[in-house]
Amino acid sequence: MARYIGPVCKLCRREGMKLYLKGDRCYSEKCAQQRRPYPPGQHGQGRIKLSEYALRLREKQKVRRIYGVLEQQFRGYYHTASRRKGRTGEQMLSLLERRLDNLVYRMGFAGSRNDARQLLRHGHVRVNGKRVDIPSYVARIGDTVTITDAGRKFKRVEGAVAGADRRPVLSWLDVDRANFTGTIKATPLREELNEPDIREQLVVEYYSR
Ligand code: SF4
Repeated sequence: MARYIGPVCKLCRREGMKLYLKGDRCYSEKCAQQRRPYPPGQHGQGRIKLSEYALRLREKQKVRRIYGVLEQQFRGYYHTASRRKGRTGEQMLSLLERRLDNLVYRMGFAGSRNDARQLLRHGHVRVNGKRVDIPSYVARIGDTVTITDAGRKFKRVEGAVAGADRRPVLSWLDVDRANFTGTIKATPLREELNEPDIREQLVVEYYSR
């Protein structure tokens, strides 16, 4: 599946919040959203009143960019979620959270979802002992994610593990960073995601209009 390869700090500035797309840099003073907290471009500092449609569109784009998913695949998550029992928005977030690239990031083995993606594309991630190199692989409850011996030695991985404490602990994951392994304990509930800035209902409204 294709991925976005353009400038990423612009995405945070467009959405008006830190999306944490660049690992360590996001926690430093170099963060572009911190230094220039207004949208990019010539009219970035102008006043804008968003329409109802634009609000929903922005929310959809924001969530899509946080998880690093392109439109077609993201829409697919919405359709899958809409066929499941329960609230569509929460189901959609649950699917996105259980993507393998997100799990590697959430467990603290990569500084960003993009780094996690590269790590697993290069074959350094095991799920229940088997190599899985598909970033969009959706893991299940009880699945164990492990980083290979070679992967553990990468400076980026070591750096990510060292800095992982800056991020909130997620109760639905059981992580053993010393052994580079983590298990999914349960389906993540909305309140356990620690993503207060995501308004998934607006994303659902965007697609169901
Ligand atoms: Fe976003 Fe990170 Fe860039 Fe800051 S440094 S603007 S949080 S990607």
